[in-house]
Amino acid sequence: MAVDYTTHDGVAVITLNNPPVNGLGHSMRAGIVDALERAQQDPALTAIVLNGAGKVFCGGADITEFNTPKATQQPMLGAVIQALERSAKPVVAALHGVAMGGGLELALGAHYRVAARGTQIALPEVKLGILPGAGGTQRLPRALGLRAALDMIVSGTPAMSETLAGTALFDKVVDGDGLQAALAFAREVGARPGAHPRLRERAIDAPDAAMCIESARRQIAETAQHFPAPRRCIDAIEAGVLHGFDKGLAFERECFVALVQSPESRALRHAFFGERAASKIADVPSDTPTRAIAQIAVIGAGTMGGGIAMSFVNAGLPVTLVDTGEEALERGLETIRKNYDASVKKGKLSAQVAEERLARIHPSVSYASLKHADLIVEAVFEDLDVKEQVFRRIDRLAKPGAILASNTSTLDLNRIAASTQRPQDVVGLHFFSPAHVMKLLEVVRGAQTAKDVLATVMKLARKIGKTAVVAGVCDGFIGNRMIEQYIRQSLFMIEEGALPAQVDHAIEAFGFAMGPFRMSDLAGNDIGWAIRKRRYREHPEQRYPKVADRLCEMGRFGQKTGGGWYHYKAGERSAYPSKLVDDMIVAHAQAAGIRRRALSDDEIVERLVFALVNEGAKILDEGIAAKASDIDMVYLTGYGFPLWRGGPMLYADTVGLAEVERAVRRYAAQPNGDAWEIAPGLVERAAQGRRFNG
Ligand code: NAD
Repeated sequence: MAVDYTTHDGVAVITLNNPPVNGLGHSMRAGIVDALERAQQDPALTAIVLNGAGKVFCGGADITEFNTPKATQQPMLGAVIQALERSAKPVVAALHGVAMGGGLELALGAHYRVAARGTQIALPEVKLGILPGAGGTQRLPRALGLRAALDMIVSGTPAMSETLAGTALFDKVVDGDGLQAALAFAREVGARPGAHPRLRERAIDAPDAAMCIESARRQIAETAQHFPAPRRCIDAIEAGVLHGFDKGLAFERECFVALVQSPESRALRHAFFGERAASKIADVPSDTPTRAIAQIAVIGAGTMGGGIAMSFVNAGLPVTLVDTGEEALERGLETIRKNYDASVKKGKLSAQVAEERLARIHPSVSYASLKHADLIVEAVFEDLDVKEQVFRRIDRLAKPGAILASNTSTLDLNRIAASTQRPQDVVGLHFFSPAHVMKLLEVVRGAQTAKDVLATVMKLARKIGKTAVVAGVCDGFIGNRMIEQYIRQSLFMIEEGALPAQVDHAIEAFGFAMGPFRMSDLAGNDIGWAIRKRRYREHPEQRYPKVADRLCEMGRFGQKTGGGWYHYKAGERSAYPSKLVDDMIVAHAQAAGIRRRALSDDEIVERLVFALVNEGAKILDEGIAAKASDIDMVYLTGYGFPLWRGGPMLYADTVGLAEVERAVRRYAAQPNGDAWEIAPGLVERAAQGRRFNG
């Protein structure tokens, strides 16, 4: 049963009981209504307490019922709340742990509320692109006052119960056992004659309503174009202020229905569920035992090694940082120190915490220090021979059961694993730069990687605040394999007639954080050059635009050399178009016999995004990614794909796969069309009217 019903000395106790967060699934909603009815019928009872079993009162909707018929089966939450409000006997909600979303809306329907200190209170719906749809936008302003309610609903951020004590939200905020306090309070109010208070009848405390609303609108103006939900929250609250509770409630419902169907909300919900889904691996059950990770060693104190070490020590895990010489090690440590100093200067971190974190990093030039590590992460040069040598050495030194990880971006993990006597302990941990900032972690599953190794690193990823996505072994894994096709298209397009600034502007207007040319200048054009040189050797059949090589031959490696695709001024990060480079591009095209033409921004966006989609389809069907949402998570958390579009695969689903296929075929018929090998999985799904995401 999702609802328990007991009586205590004249008070009915209705307990929400649907672990882990007492989600308001259909059987719970129906159970509350039944229990309320039962309590009305019993003449021995004077009051009702509504509380939650376990650690929380209620975390809101039951997410397992999302997108199922049960989610909309009667009684809906609004009807349950009405039943509470109409109860002839007073209802006291006893809150503890968490009262969020629908859970808080439910409590707002009670006549009285008693909260234990430390209860998290929130209406976070806006984060899923919707608004509280069961009266939250109408009742919370009546409980908290307009200004505080606007803040809470529009931001979706939680507040602690004790900070809201003294408002009409709580009749009492108590230390310790909230239920006992609620029972005592229920007996007291049960004996009171007359009607019991209902928030819907309370006036909104808002002496300066118009100003408050105006100021809330101003605050969201910048993001409102892509995220309609905050604006609708404000509209719904305003409707209640201007036209009263009932009209406000009806308008809230209207907004809710419209938002649920909006592509932005679909994208946000996709990202929310995608994050959870990414942490689950089909053949690695959630009860798979994990290995204890207390000591970590990172090999290579360069760009990545330093950031990786920071990610671990920031989560409290000690790290031994190993490099070949004192000088390289000191350089790495200096960068780490600078990063912490910058955070302290910005006020993000106290000097003391920064010191503590630094103190958890133990530099060493000796591989012998690896002996005690439970996890060793290799981040040395991207060269198979070097990595194989390093792994052979690690294999000789590491203790049995230690996890041996490589941060390689492109190399064959199975070959790296084969250089050890324990391939089952080898896994890829592909961090993104800067590693202490970027949320994405691609976990590369080798042919022999053991299940408990995967379970352990997935758990560790959560601990260090990363979004881990499992990828199979191939060149570039999920993210970089796809981005290569995107970059190829960007280079073809500047040969065909566009210039870097046009390409970047077009894709940034689509919503990418940074276009391909600015991104390349930031990462260093020499990195791509080195990879291309390898590809020229390994895949002579693949045709690459040569314009990027010309740029590198000019020594323009990007921001670090003061110039790349763009010109940079000392001490500034802004990218200025470079006439020198633009002339080089035009001259290069001429020399190659290319007739340049004007490209539309639409063509630019389609070629870039559909290049990702087309490669993503191959990655999905080869099993490199287990599900389309994993690919989307990689792009949302690691590549700056616009969140409100939900990732490349969801975006393709939204456009319609038949339309995507038509566009790809159109581009395949143009010059440079041979770069498009259309993915069979795209064609097949389009023909069957299927989508990538379910
Ligand atoms: P880097 O050149 O900045 O650092 C490499 C470090 O490894 C240097 O400090 C070097 O002294 C050290 N080193 C080399 N051989 C060693 C050995 N045998 N033992 C101990 N230390 C050794 O390189 P990076 O950019 O940090 O890249 C490291 C790895 O991370 C590469 O595999 C790269 O592909 C991968 N990676 C890089 C990025 C990125 O954006 N830079 C992103 C993801 C993954």
